Amino acid sequence: MTTSHYIAGRWVEGQGSDCISVNDPALGQPFAELMAASAAQVDQAVAAARGALPAWKATSASERAGYLRGFAEQLGQRREALISVQMRNNGKPRHEAEIDLDDAIATFNYYAELAEQLPSKNREVPLAAPGFTARTRLEPVGVVGLIVPWNFPLVTSAWKLAPALAAGCTVVLKPSEVTPLVEQAYGQIADSLGLPAGVLNIVNGKAETGAALSNHTGLDKLSFTGSNSVGSQVMRSASAQCRPVTLELGGKSAIVVFDDCDVDQAVEWIVAGITWNAGQMCSATSRLLVQDGIAEALLPRLQAALERLRVGNPLTEEVDMGPLTSQAQWLKVASYFATAREEGLQCLAGGKALDRDGWFVSPTLYADVPNDSRLWTEEIFGPVLCARRFATEEQAIAEANDSRFGLVATVCSADLARAERVADALEVGHVWINSVQAVFVETSWGGTKGSGIGRELGPWGLSAYQSVKHVTRCLG
Ligand code: NAD
Repeated sequence: MTTSHYIAGRWVEGQGSDCISVNDPALGQPFAELMAASAAQVDQAVAAARGALPAWKATSASERAGYLRGFAEQLGQRREALISVQMRNNGKPRHEAEIDLDDAIATFNYYAELAEQLPSKNREVPLAAPGFTARTRLEPVGVVGLIVPWNFPLVTSAWKLAPALAAGCTVVLKPSEVTPLVEQAYGQIADSLGLPAGVLNIVNGKAETGAALSNHTGLDKLSFTGSNSVGSQVMRSASAQCRPVTLELGGKSAIVVFDDCDVDQAVEWIVAGITWNAGQMCSATSRLLVQDGIAEALLPRLQAALERLRVGNPLTEEVDMGPLTSQAQWLKVASYFATAREEGLQCLAGGKALDRDGWFVSPTLYADVPNDSRLWTEEIFGPVLCARRFATEEQAIAEANDSRFGLVATVCSADLARAERVADALEVGHVWINSVQAVFVETSWGGTKGSGIGRELGPWGLSAYQSVKHVTRCLG
């Protein structure tokens, strides 16, 4: 892996002041280092993207589709290397690293298809008034800054890069400093495909580099995925320049289990929704709402299922769940264990860090958590599940919606009419019925309320990088 920055079609060493340590979370030890990009290098990357824009937006949609298919194909050719680096740097179990890679490949193929359909989207607009014609033109937004987090690095970047390039935008991508290696592949693929220099630039760095990009006056749009605290800073810099921003932020999502469910099936869904990626998912279903009639049967089986999970180093052991990806995240999750003890919460499973090297915690379950507890209301971003009971459908909907976030929810019920009704009433961007964390590239991704602004994936993800122009002509 090349551990540096890709600017104007060239690999360059970082000239910033921060040294980034790349860690293996299963050992709690660094295995690579790189120097962050300086503010001047961020400038160079934005200038390169600006310089490349006129020619790139003038390429035919089918030419751009060809490049996107090339990205998909070459991701596949790098399969083993990309899976290994995610396992090592993120601590992902192999099957999860494979799913991430397949998701990124599917995203590039999907937006290649949408790019090919672009010419047919420009059309005449029928007017009621006589004497005029009007037509639309979907144009690229321009130069876009893309800032992403560490939990699904290949995927989050693909969800931004593929539609942005399909639309005809040029980009500067800033990966997370926690996982700066895997996205180097996008620069290497751009190189090997002969993507015109400056169309895709990658600058690595910490908050300072991110801020240099999000404050840059040379951008036409910024698309950010990450925490609410940084998201609000990014929004402030966008507002200072009155430019558009897409924000994919945090969540505290509910999983609602009605008493007509098969208990074992429900346990499987609940466990997956909180332990995939060690719970480090914006869409983790971390608030369990369980109906009174099933709670007594479900909670002991859920406790047993969580305790059975094999937690360990994905590179050397057969595991269901790996470590947390960073020491900072491990300390944060441990601080919530301490809060739970102070609040006197009833802990049915876990509630502690593992006594071994690396940043491991046990899958955790707290029962009958008060709805004003910090563990019920705040995003923890770890395998920590809080449960409450409910009696009626109305109560379940009210409790699920009682959150400042609104990213996703899961509804489990054998009564499909009820499940659909509840899905319609939930104030979130995506609801799964009798399934969990199933994300398809054709459906939208994004949240309501504090979970963000805008949508990724599907045609909505492409629209986020397009601007609508109308040309109206007087016939007289
Ligand atoms: P983070 O906000 O700390 O960092 C995200 C990115 O922003 C990183 O690249 C970071 O270097 C950069 N950054 C940090 N400070 C910055 C600043 N001042 N200006 C500009 N950029 C800056 O988030 P994280 O810890 O990497 O990721 C976890 C968060 O991401 C969670 O809250 C999670 O819910 C959220 N997330 C949301 C989605 C979604 O689709 N809604 C997906 C994945 C993760």
